[in-house]
Amino acid sequence: QRVLHEIARPSQIEGRELRVSCRVGVSVLPRDGRDVQMVIRNVDTAMYKAKEYGRNNFQFYSPEMNTVIAQRLEMQTSMRNAVNQERFELAYQPKIDLVTGRIAGMEALLRVKDEAGNLSLPDTFIQVAEETGLIVPIGEWVMREACNFNRALQDRGFAPMRVAINLSARQLTRYDLVRAVELALGDAGLAAECLELELTESMVMGDPESVIGTLAQLKALGIQLSIDDFGTGYSSLSYLKRFPLTSLKIDQSFVSELDHDHDHNASAIVKAIISIGHSLDMNVIAEGVETEQQLSFLVDNGCDAMQGYSLSRPLVAEGFVTLLEREPAGGEKFARGRPMGGTCG
Ligand code: C2E
Ligand code: MG
Ligand code: MG
Repeated sequence: QRVLHEIARPSQIEGRELRVSCRVGVSVLPRDGRDVQMVIRNVDTAMYKAKEYGRNNFQFYSPEMNTVIAQRLEMQTSMRNAVNQERFELAYQPKIDLVTGRIAGMEALLRVKDEAGNLSLPDTFIQVAEETGLIVPIGEWVMREACNFNRALQDRGFAPMRVAINLSARQLTRYDLVRAVELALGDAGLAAECLELELTESMVMGDPESVIGTLAQLKALGIQLSIDDFGTGYSSLSYLKRFPLTSLKIDQSFVSELDHDHDHNASAIVKAIISIGHSLDMNVIAEGVETEQQLSFLVDNGCDAMQGYSLSRPLVAEGFVTLLEREPAGGEKFARGRPMGGTCG
């Protein structure tokens, strides 16, 4: 504690106040190792653990730390291999416009292939990719692949639609996102209106002033910006108004609760989000719609669009093309509500 305290004290250098932060790993001889070398290695392990907790803290070494670290390392190695061997694929989930009843866009979702070619869901993978920074090259691949696929659909004669990709915090703050987006669009020959970026509340609300400039540049290019999983993080309503956002996505946890909503909590939240979105001139889209009951609630309450298993699971490229080919001309099935607005192309 005393070491942390002393190091955290600001120093004056050439008239400027500078602060250094510090993390401490502690390992004790002979409890944690037979020799100095081993103890120092364990100090390192404890120090990495301390890093996970943020600045200015210390951790004592424990043997369990090694198991966790070994699992992480294994995951990181398997991810590096996946990157080197280009074992990624995108699945596309259609977004339905609840006014026209037609497919109005799609969300690209990352899938990882194992050595045998089986696809797996991205959850833990993305977490580790974020920790290692590999999310930046992976995210860039996602952006390029999604733009190319969208362009290919237009070339095959399908009406222009928008593809949404999910971003990670690192792509927004520690990387020239605007430039990467411009290059991906330019190389694919895709109009900026046909690309949407999905951000989360924690990504934009963490450091809103610095994010606002990047978002404004993206918006100026014509990119659509939406907030994913809305309602699960913390939002400042005044920033929500200042960010150049085009849509809010109601988190699937609220949508799934609509079916057993005895206390009317979920329906109150869903209605409130639709109302906030519309008041701020944004589209509102519901995620994870699985049942007819959820769908009719959303339509009756003026939600603009939806995605979910009730219409389609995410599909790999060929599957998505087949879905588009089979779409009836009129659409109408889900029609009601207000138009989603702003086609692209
Ligand atoms: P998300 O962006 O909120 O995506 C929606 C998730 O809900 C997807 O899971 C989708 O398959 C799933 N889903 C769609 N409809 C339904 C439904 O009716 N019921 C249920 N129970 N689930 C439904 P997935 O593909 O496993 O992705 C999970 C999360 O991983 C995504 O959540 C997103 O945050 C992240 N992710 C996916 N692809 C990428 C990517 O390329 N880059 C980054 N940074 N994150 C990604
Ligand atoms: Mg998303
Ligand atoms: Mg979501």
